[in-house]
Amino acid sequence: MKRDLTIGVLGGGQLGRMLALAGYPLGLRFRFLDPARDAPAAHLAPHIGEDFNDTQALSRFVAGVDLVTYEFENVPLESARFLSQRAPVFPPVAALEVAQDRLVEKKFFEKLEIPVPPFAAVETRAELEEAVAQIGLPCVLKTRRFGYDGKGQFVLRHEQDIEGAWQALGGVALILEGFVSFEREVSIIAARARDGSVAWYPLVENHHRDGILRLSLAPAPRCSDELQETAQSHARRLMEALDYVGVLAIEFFERDGELSVNEFAPRVHNSGHWTIEGAQTSQFELHLRAICDWPLGDTGARGHCAMSNIIGALPDIKNLLDTPGAHLHLYGKKPQPNRKLGHITLCEKDEMSLNARREELDILTG
Ligand code: AMP
Repeated sequence: MKRDLTIGVLGGGQLGRMLALAGYPLGLRFRFLDPARDAPAAHLAPHIGEDFNDTQALSRFVAGVDLVTYEFENVPLESARFLSQRAPVFPPVAALEVAQDRLVEKKFFEKLEIPVPPFAAVETRAELEEAVAQIGLPCVLKTRRFGYDGKGQFVLRHEQDIEGAWQALGGVALILEGFVSFEREVSIIAARARDGSVAWYPLVENHHRDGILRLSLAPAPRCSDELQETAQSHARRLMEALDYVGVLAIEFFERDGELSVNEFAPRVHNSGHWTIEGAQTSQFELHLRAICDWPLGDTGARGHCAMSNIIGALPDIKNLLDTPGAHLHLYGKKPQPNRKLGHITLCEKDEMSLNARREELDILTG
């Protein structure tokens, strides 16, 4: 087993930073490419502060690395292809192609017979009107590309909203989706190794505010074996179809015991941060094991966790550090509205003990 591998990571945000933090105990080395001078991962490893499209920078980045991976899904496809001719790139470029376009993604799931909300492609104002008539109200208009944390979205509840939605988003390729009145949102974090073996964690229950993930409960409460198995089977089908290598996350809407896919992310995911303290192997280590062709290991939960994001402003750190069972992670980012600055994971042995501390977590994160 080759040990002292150097991993090149595209993107130096908090996900890249946590990948490096998980890889150092295993003897791995890292190198990052990210145009941001103060990228969170730049505090940890050599960092090339150039653009993702810069061929010279890409050549410097890939020279001497054993593997390339990425921590965000909007890696330019041309750059990913350029790198894949010089080093193995995991997850495969095909996963980026599917994940970068909500329409391609929805069609891909449909082909795999994995349920998605009703959808229609929208390019013109007339097509928007047709799509609203076809899908019905309420519905959600989204940009096909570059949407995240609820950005590039408009919820239509009445016919009169068509004009506002078109004014807000018209002019780029769009998709209209049926609005799912879900009971809750859950996600599965899964992995596939280079030898085809697969692993997953228990489903996680996610709570968003203003389109941004605030809280994840893991394992998800009130989760039947059937629901877990359905999510696993969807993840397996998706990973096999993409010949996937690495960790991915699938976000689902749950309603009447059924799951439909919102989207998937070909990378480690915010709803998997609880695994750092709450699982035998963290999602970050799992991703590295998968891409390095190492055994995936044990993904079992060690307890019950609540992971809360620190968004916009830093809370009272002293208080947090003084709280039993609370694990603080700060990403070294400057406070800014709606910016994810860190997270806290609270771990307990059982669900009842965790529930008793939920309010405490809200107070701690402000
Ligand atoms: P997204 O950027 O697609 O992950 O959307 C952000 C959040 O908006 C999701 O986590 C949901 O809470 C909500 N959302 C997105 N699409 C839909 C939909 N089709 N129906 C209901 N809620 C949605």
